[in-house]
Amino acid sequence: MTTLIKNGRIVTSADDFIGDIFIDGETIKAVGNDLPVTADKVIDASGLLVMPGGIDPHVHLEMPFMGTFSSDTYETGTRAALHGGTTCVIDFILQKQGNSLRAAFDEWSGRATGNAVGDYSFHMAVTDFNDSTRQEIKQMVDEGITSFKTFMAYKGALMIDDRQMVGLMDEVKAQGGMVTVHATNGDVIDYLIQKHKSEGKFAPLYHYLSQPEVTEAEASERFADMANFSGCPGYIVHMTCEGALNAIRQATRRNQKVFVETCIQYLVLDASLYEKNFDGAKWVMSPPLREKKDQEALWSGINQGLVQIVATDHCPFTWEQKNMGKDDFSKIPNGHPAIEHRMELLFSEGVNKGRISLNKFVEVTSTNPAKIFGMFPYKGTLGAGADADIILFDPNEKHTVSVNSHHMNTNYSAYEGWELTGKVKTVLLRGTVVIDDNKCLVEKGYGKFVKRKKVSGVV
Ligand SMILES: [Zn+2]
Repeated sequence: MTTLIKNGRIVTSADDFIGDIFIDGETIKAVGNDLPVTADKVIDASGLLVMPGGIDPHVHLEMPFMGTFSSDTYETGTRAALHGGTTCVIDFILQKQGNSLRAAFDEWSGRATGNAVGDYSFHMAVTDFNDSTRQEIKQMVDEGITSFKTFMAYKGALMIDDRQMVGLMDEVKAQGGMVTVHATNGDVIDYLIQKHKSEGKFAPLYHYLSQPEVTEAEASERFADMANFSGCPGYIVHMTCEGALNAIRQATRRNQKVFVETCIQYLVLDASLYEKNFDGAKWVMSPPLREKKDQEALWSGINQGLVQIVATDHCPFTWEQKNMGKDDFSKIPNGHPAIEHRMELLFSEGVNKGRISLNKFVEVTSTNPAKIFGMFPYKGTLGAGADADIILFDPNEKHTVSVNSHHMNTNYSAYEGWELTGKVKTVLLRGTVVIDDNKCLVEKGYGKFVKRKKVSGVV
């Protein structure tokens, strides 16, 4: 089966020209002007942007949490991602403290295999680093899991201490991997949560006030220091604020590179949403939404090259699940649904409003995730030999985000009523049209596990 996409405006992180893409099977064979080929199927992309499929390196599908699970399965979550132009996601396997990495890997693989509609890979969250975990790091790298997530918060469940952190960094460095981090000071946050509760303060606003900027800035700096000391490639997930970004800016002065991911919500939403009484629970996530000045810092950080990736931290819960914390903010499941809207929100709020260029849009949604996490150049770009993961995007179509039209398995939208300009029209994943005109054309099981190469310390 061959496919020819004709007359589109082809945009990668580096290029921008009108041309054609010729696909044979799952792979791009040629890109150029007026390609002298015939194909089984021709798609006219006149007037549309033709870009690499999005890669969201931070999602949580069917994540076990507080006796329940995040509400998108691999099927519903990856399907919603495809509708929004994201063809590949990286989820997080969570090691259970006291158990092996292998046991967690098997559990997560069991949920994903045969169910995913879009492509997926995994990070391994190391929550208990000891001598036997150390020996499993190489095994995981051999399985194609080359990034290792750590938590500096959630003591007693996910958090590791600094001794474990530097030990893990030593081993991960030796095996060609990367350590990623949820960088907030867990002890300070635990203190503030207890303090607010003891004062009778239980509203969602106190979730925000229990995680002030300093808790993130301090932990980001400490993580950068440990990574610098050990020489291990480091990556900070879901950065939200100016203080944390400045800690990384400071690290560049000693010639250190620490990769930074932010998420779409931290660019377009702010903490005033927590003043809406319990409705604020829709945006209870960790770290919380911040202030306008932090949004400005993050947009600038993208343009300065300090922030390489815009992800989602998609971790959806239904409104009923959110209500577990009706009387106590610390019991509200953390996370919000965004996997479907990342690309269109960033295009509408970023490219259309002149905050980032179109090439930068591709870079932070696709190319950099592929490069940093060992999937480039077979994902993240539109070159000969790459997987034919391609989106056709109408830059002018206006549409409104709503729970009534989204495909995520949640009964509210965190962006209800938002009017966006720019819409995903057609999506190809490995050469097959998977989304066309708001319809998904493939079944669960189409998505494949992406075995990743060793990570890159440079982009
Ligand atoms: Zn997360």
